[in-house]
Amino acid sequence: MAVFPNKLPPSSLAQPVTTLWGVGAERAAQLARLNIHTVEDLLLHRPRRYEDRRHFQAIQELTTRDPTLTRGTVVAKGLKRFRRGGKSVFELVLSDSSGRLHCRWWNLPFMEKYFDVGDEVVVFGKLVGLKPRTMDHPETEVIEGGEERFVHFDRITPMYPLTEGLPQRWLRALIWRTLERYEKDIPEPPYPCGPTKEIGVVETAPPATPLSSRAQAVRWLHFPTALEEGEFARRRLALDEFVELQQRLQTRRQRFETKATALPCGGEKNRFIKPFLARLGFTLTAAQTRVLREIRRDLMGPHPMRRLLQGDVGSGKTVVAACAALMALESGFSVALMAPTEILAEQHYASFRQWFGALPIPVELRTGSRKTSESHPSGTAGTDADSCPPSLFVGTHALLTEGFVLPNLGLVIIDEQHKFGVVQRETLVRKGAYPHLLVMTATPIPRTLGLTLYGDLDVSVIDELPVGRGQIRTLVRSAAQLPRVWKFIRQQLSAGRQAYVVYPRVEETDGGSVKAVLHEFENVRQQLAPFPLGLLHGRLAPRDKEAVLAQFRANQVKVLLATSLIEVGLDVPNATVMLIENAEQFGLPQLHQLRGRIGRGGGDAYCILITATETPAARQRLRVLEETSDGFRIAEADLKLRGPGELLGRQQSGLPRFRFGNLVEDLDLILQARDWVARQRSAT
Ligand code: ADP
Ligand code: MG
Repeated sequence: MAVFPNKLPPSSLAQPVTTLWGVGAERAAQLARLNIHTVEDLLLHRPRRYEDRRHFQAIQELTTRDPTLTRGTVVAKGLKRFRRGGKSVFELVLSDSSGRLHCRWWNLPFMEKYFDVGDEVVVFGKLVGLKPRTMDHPETEVIEGGEERFVHFDRITPMYPLTEGLPQRWLRALIWRTLERYEKDIPEPPYPCGPTKEIGVVETAPPATPLSSRAQAVRWLHFPTALEEGEFARRRLALDEFVELQQRLQTRRQRFETKATALPCGGEKNRFIKPFLARLGFTLTAAQTRVLREIRRDLMGPHPMRRLLQGDVGSGKTVVAACAALMALESGFSVALMAPTEILAEQHYASFRQWFGALPIPVELRTGSRKTSESHPSGTAGTDADSCPPSLFVGTHALLTEGFVLPNLGLVIIDEQHKFGVVQRETLVRKGAYPHLLVMTATPIPRTLGLTLYGDLDVSVIDELPVGRGQIRTLVRSAAQLPRVWKFIRQQLSAGRQAYVVYPRVEETDGGSVKAVLHEFENVRQQLAPFPLGLLHGRLAPRDKEAVLAQFRANQVKVLLATSLIEVGLDVPNATVMLIENAEQFGLPQLHQLRGRIGRGGGDAYCILITATETPAARQRLRVLEETSDGFRIAEADLKLRGPGELLGRQQSGLPRFRFGNLVEDLDLILQARDWVARQRSAT
């Protein structure tokens, strides 16, 4: 992501690094591996940490707890080669006035040539032993005199990410020289982010120092004079990134609104919705009703709807989608509903056929393995809108097939939106002439992510579950407790309930450290005999998947052994027990989704998480699920623990890469960027 937005970088910053003194072809290739191609890239290469080389810990005071910075003079060195296997250890003994420190490097014999007795060395590391004080593989730098000493020592020194063959000190000197020369060319932003105060953390900053200067921020990034300055600089540059992103999002949105006039999809006298709701068998929750009002306002509005519907697992998003669809259908438009798996598409198809059965609405299915054609005998919808009554098309990615025409498309609904990319979403939308768009997700997205990823969408939230749901009790257990767990499941099955047993893998890999569904089938069959078992995983043919699911729904199969394939959407109310093996392999939101498959009827439900690793950290993480059923809190916990990529699933999340922005911590900056961009827009 370009970080100096709003202006092309002046040509001097856009120059390739090879124009810099001392950068030849070999160094340029190394820098390229760090994604440094231009002078600008180099100036924005972010240190991974800083060393305060104005203060050192005495060797005597070092501990085994935290890595610390120390220094000493080399008093001895030696390389020992072991007879067997070509292994070696190089050892350096340093001394300061307080004591001695042994530094060891295993199997790196060439380290020997970097040090001489008498050298002054800066060392960063953690003790592995106290008698003698020993560090393994610390980071080191030999202090040299000369003119560059003030770049590397006696200051807060940046430590950069490196690549093989690229010395820390060479890179630091290069950045120093480049900054000296090009600092004046760094363009200032067109927006006022004023004195440091405006971007947060300022109280401890030197009050007179304005951070509005981007050039100042870049200098602080590399060579701060106080440790806080590094963080100020990061936040200042992160703000630039967020501004650029918000500009992109808001431009997209605006371009869309000026171009597109909305199709009138607000419905007609509730002629479908009324009978639909009357036959539904339950009343909508207040939250569902509120969201529907928001949707209807959009469907009647001047611009096509672009709305994200967020609602925890089981909050009843499908019914809301059905009502939205009915509004468009009442108005005479067709609707497309896309789901990420065939299983889910089939399930929606079945529900909607049942729901819309008494209404004059054709419901079609289109997946990779099955295409119905109630209203279109040819199997594909025709191009002639008149010949085709307004219909609902349910499907998977197969809906996106080129050449597949969705005539008279008024509304696009995407279920489990986080499983799709922006491109797929837009491909479906482009099958119509600016249809309305409703995307749904159960992955509760922390606010920072929502603003970043979905900044161009309006958001509706279903924040209550239908009444009459039983409690889901979640229990974390170790593998040793499995016999008791099986006994418990047998009791539940005897009482007429059904169960899921979930595994992280289809087949065993890496020596079977993680359980696999194919491998465990026989074992579980014995444990739970005589109850009939079904098997569901991604490698089955679609027909077989459907067959086993049909049996499970019909309560012929009592226990479904599955992979996380069942994570999205599946709705079988009589299933009230879920056992998840190797739960530590899953992310928290994924476990929450999985667990959302149970507790859909009345009565209590049980989710049992088996962990193979007994580390306190793994246990602690899963505890979150024992403690809360609030998907939002779970997602935030996961974001803190694992970062945004994991939460969204790496694939196609459309998440930009930030050099400086931090989606866990920078909510205030994201809001500031968004408001600033919005104010700009309304001013022009
Ligand atoms: P999700 O939001 O996870 O997609 P679903 O739409 O699958 O949830 O709904 C879960 C279950 O709750 C379904 O069986 C659905 O019929 C039922 N349901 C939805 N809304 C209500 C309601 N207002 N009252 C009772 N049950 C409801
Ligand atoms: Mg759903």
